[in-house]
Amino acid sequence: MLICDEYLTPTSLEEAFAAMACHRGECRIVAGATDLLPWAREGRAGDVEIPTLIDVSKIPELHERRADGKRVRLGAATPIQRFLDDPALAAALPAMPRCAVWFADDQIRESATIGGNIVNASPAGDGIPPLMAHDAVVELAARRNGSIVRRKVPLVQFITGPGTTTLAPDELLVAIECDALAGYGGSFEKVGHRRSLVISIVCLAVLVQLDGAGRGFEDVRLAIGGIGPVPRRLTAVESFLGQGAVTAARLEQAAAMPVELVASRTRQAYRRDIVRGFMLRGLIDAVRAAGGGTLTPDLARDLEAVYA
Ligand SMILES: Cc1cc2nc3c(=O)[nH]c(=O)nc-3n(C[C@H](O)[C@H](O)[C@H](O)COP(=O)(O)OP(=O)(O)OC[C@H]3O[C@@H](n4cnc5c(N)ncnc54)[C@H](O)[C@@H]3O)c2cc1C
Repeated sequence: MLICDEYLTPTSLEEAFAAMACHRGECRIVAGATDLLPWAREGRAGDVEIPTLIDVSKIPELHERRADGKRVRLGAATPIQRFLDDPALAAALPAMPRCAVWFADDQIRESATIGGNIVNASPAGDGIPPLMAHDAVVELAARRNGSIVRRKVPLVQFITGPGTTTLAPDELLVAIECDALAGYGGSFEKVGHRRSLVISIVCLAVLVQLDGAGRGFEDVRLAIGGIGPVPRRLTAVESFLGQGAVTAARLEQAAAMPVELVASRTRQAYRRDIVRGFMLRGLIDAVRAAGGGTLTPDLARDLEAVYA
């Protein structure tokens, strides 16, 4: 059971930091509370007493969303649902709509925030691999010596282990900034015990850009969750794919590469099978999405044959 005496809803960073200072050691930050409440209510943590909950979801700066041709800035309290219904975000982050559509259900998606997903730092948090593939950096802020100080940390360095990050106790995650990749082909694969309302066992984000002739990769970005303590980029596979033509045979070779990285303590054989299958399907879907109608007939036929 969760016991809480006070629920504060600051409407600015100043107010939030004042509340955090006032209740130091006795408070917990929440945004959508979709991780915190089940954790506390389902007894996983026993009876939990948190004297003060500080809900940061009413702070306007944490809802800012901007996408220009090069960069995207997402307030930490952006609900997952926005990746489905904000066309500018969906275009700039091509793997995110597919990630969002399989994320929980309509009701949870409206409350669950991208910042909460990141700070929760689950090895298989669905929002993390797509943002890693976009080279995301997180913007953290704290109030120190009377003023608000900010720092930026690459997402790949921010998450240090299952449930752990480099967030200091007096800091908030304010925003995420990442590359805008409109025009890339994106795909997202996920599996859990069932298809929806489920925490992933493995999830994979793929983003690709083809060269003008549609025969080689201009850029390939891959990130995977659920195969080890933290989500990670698949840099060796990215450089392998970047150095040759796009063929079904090379995609199949690439799909086998991350299998050896599976280091989870449970379901290792299952995860290896899943990784290979997800890689192949994710790459093919992303190549098709990037190529549109411009894929050469030979390549289109070869990709189709992989599924046969
Ligand atoms: C039924 C159900 C289905 C779910 N399905 C999925 C799924 O498909 N995929 C998936 O990845 N997750 C899923 N989840 C987990 C959860 O919804 C997500 O991780 C969600 O993104 C968490 O966001 P939140 O705003 O609710 O976080 P909260 O629960 O509010 O917070 C999570 C953690 O982040 C901290 N935090 C939040 N915001 C900030 C901030 N701005 N600064 C500093 N710290 C902060 C909190 O202190 C807490 O430690 C599911 C949960 C439920 C209950």
